[in-house]
Amino acid sequence: MTNLLGASEVRELANKLDLKPTKKLGQNFVVDANTCRKIVKLAEVGNKDIALEIGPGLGSLTLALLESAKQVVAVEIDDRLAKQLPLTSSEHGFFDKQLITLNQDAMVLKKLSVEPNVLVANLPYNISVPVLLNTLEHFPSITRGVVMVQSEVAHRLAAKPDNKDYGSPTVKANWWSSLHLAGSVGRSVFWPVPNVDSSLVRFDRHEPLGSESERRATFAVIDEAFAKRRKMMRSALSQLFGGKAEEYLNNAGVDPTIRGEALSVEQFHEIGKQLIKHNLTK
Ligand code: SAM
Repeated sequence: MTNLLGASEVRELANKLDLKPTKKLGQNFVVDANTCRKIVKLAEVGNKDIALEIGPGLGSLTLALLESAKQVVAVEIDDRLAKQLPLTSSEHGFFDKQLITLNQDAMVLKKLSVEPNVLVANLPYNISVPVLLNTLEHFPSITRGVVMVQSEVAHRLAAKPDNKDYGSPTVKANWWSSLHLAGSVGRSVFWPVPNVDSSLVRFDRHEPLGSESERRATFAVIDEAFAKRRKMMRSALSQLFGGKAEEYLNNAGVDPTIRGEALSVEQFHEIGKQLIKHNLTK
């Protein structure tokens, strides 16, 4: 089996590149091969899969993916890391054609030359939710994935209604997929050691709940409901629905006195449809 990166090689590579990991880019690199293999296994990556990895960094997870996947598309914003990655991969015995490295910002990634079917990533923590939502939105070919995020965010993504962690990221991610917690990861597997805990989230895409215009309307309702989280839906949505929130919520089959945190994505969808029906979308 190919050697993956360990603590000493990660340091050597960082020294070679004169890399000082930055918080701004969420640069905490995994130095433990077992953690990387575990993530790949949880995502059930096999030799027919094309994996998308966002933020490959020095390549710890990338090499574990290359061991199992047919192909890996790695999107890295830091040009020094993006340049080094193919070298590291070939030094570890992988073929050039198995890895596509792109020096790009994953926040604005909308198209790729190949169609990945699985996302596996240790996401940069400060932008993990928008990057995940962007990927779910623009890459329908991705049917499942495992992402490592800050534990607090993981609990939010996997939360169920009527839970303090349930919020806009949860409901939006639920538009495309079902998510659940897939384990926690100790701080000691990272260099530098982060000051937050990390957890894994597995997602599985389901059939889209509705059209793109319905999604946009539903997301507008979600934003409004969670911006006024403590308010009942009839008052949280009063502006959006031009004073008719109570009537339209009733039409959607939703109790107007309920709070957004108690509603499923399907219920938000019904409310979103009312927004379209009454020409209230922006
Ligand atoms: N996958 C590596 C690992 O597990 O060791 C590194 C993970 S590190 C938490 C996050 C990586 O994402 C860093 O390499 C960072 O440079 C990169 N990154 C940060 N913002 C990014 C963005 N907007 N688009 C693509 N990559 C980004």
